[in-house]
Amino acid sequence: MKVQLGDIQNASNWLDTGGSPLIIAGPCSAESEFQVLEVAEKLASGGRVKLMRAGIWKPRTRPNSFEGVGSQGLKWLMKAEQEFGIPAIVEVVNKSHVQEALDAGLRHFWIGARTTVNPFLVEELANALEASNAPVFVKNPMNPDLDLWIGALERFAAHGLDKLVAVHRGFNTYQDHVYRNSPNWEIPIELKTRYPNLDIIVDPSHIGGQRELLHPIAQKAFDLGFDGLMIETHPSPDKALSDPKQQIELANFDDFLGSLEIKSQHFEDSVTQSQLRRLRVLIDEIDHNLLENLKHRLKIVEQIGEYKADHGVMVFQLERWKEIMDDRLEYGSLNEIDQKLIKTVWNDIHNASIRLQTEIVKHNLTPKD
Ligand code: PEP
Ligand code: MN
Repeated sequence: MKVQLGDIQNASNWLDTGGSPLIIAGPCSAESEFQVLEVAEKLASGGRVKLMRAGIWKPRTRPNSFEGVGSQGLKWLMKAEQEFGIPAIVEVVNKSHVQEALDAGLRHFWIGARTTVNPFLVEELANALEASNAPVFVKNPMNPDLDLWIGALERFAAHGLDKLVAVHRGFNTYQDHVYRNSPNWEIPIELKTRYPNLDIIVDPSHIGGQRELLHPIAQKAFDLGFDGLMIETHPSPDKALSDPKQQIELANFDDFLGSLEIKSQHFEDSVTQSQLRRLRVLIDEIDHNLLENLKHRLKIVEQIGEYKADHGVMVFQLERWKEIMDDRLEYGSLNEIDQKLIKTVWNDIHNASIRLQTEIVKHNLTPKD
């Protein structure tokens, strides 16, 4: 029976989370039976991880990368569950994956970012999963498109699948050099605002892309009241066959989880508090974008400075400066931005550019030995 996204069941209705955030952990990829059992044993002994993730069919960006161990991994995951009691979750990309995984006994599935973008594949998967009513974890699409993410969730719901969880794994951008996938927190926050019943967990591994960023991202996920984490861990991350830089060493995993501070949940906040928090996140995001743009602007100013130095052109060009200010004031007025603010900001930016270029010219004029 078709369900509406607004009526999705909270994960605590079908998974024993014990009232704690839902934690999914495991290697990016299953690599051997030994590795799968080693990870399962450790995670099960910690008691906080509810599902063990391990990719066996890996959609890789470039060909000739490790594409997963394939169907043989299903047996290893089932063995891990039987021996250590921790159920596994795998990524499925097409209906034959679903069929094989269901036949092997798996009951939890995630949809990767490269699949969420494709409505035909999502429809195929929803169809294949319908009879099982299995929980489906839907990662956001690669691109920052909230409607596409919601669309995928709706397609599963339309097939009666009501155990849905959204997974925020960041968005692909051409320019972000800090994160592997830019977090754009405003997007999952908007999703949560529209569908408060829908659990959203955060995948710091694919957002961060490097180990040092995992802790701050995971902490931010809790600070913002998200419902859990999906995180990669591997017995020897540097030797991992996929995503070696972003996996936590298995031996450190308990300490990692233990060091996160779990704040009171989103829904316990007063409306004002959560609204304020939401707006502050947006401000942070916008300021970071301003800073990234400023960095790019200064790089280009530097190139212009070098060009001027090479060709003996004067640093300060009155005509060009007037043109810049007139253009920014006009653009600002179309956008109803205070003209005084624009004047102050662009005066400062222009002064900084002149200083930078003067330095470059001075440096180029200094006789070199
Ligand atoms: C993964 O979880 O290993 C994976 C491939 O993730 P994503 O779809 O987020 O890139
Ligand atoms: Mn991965």
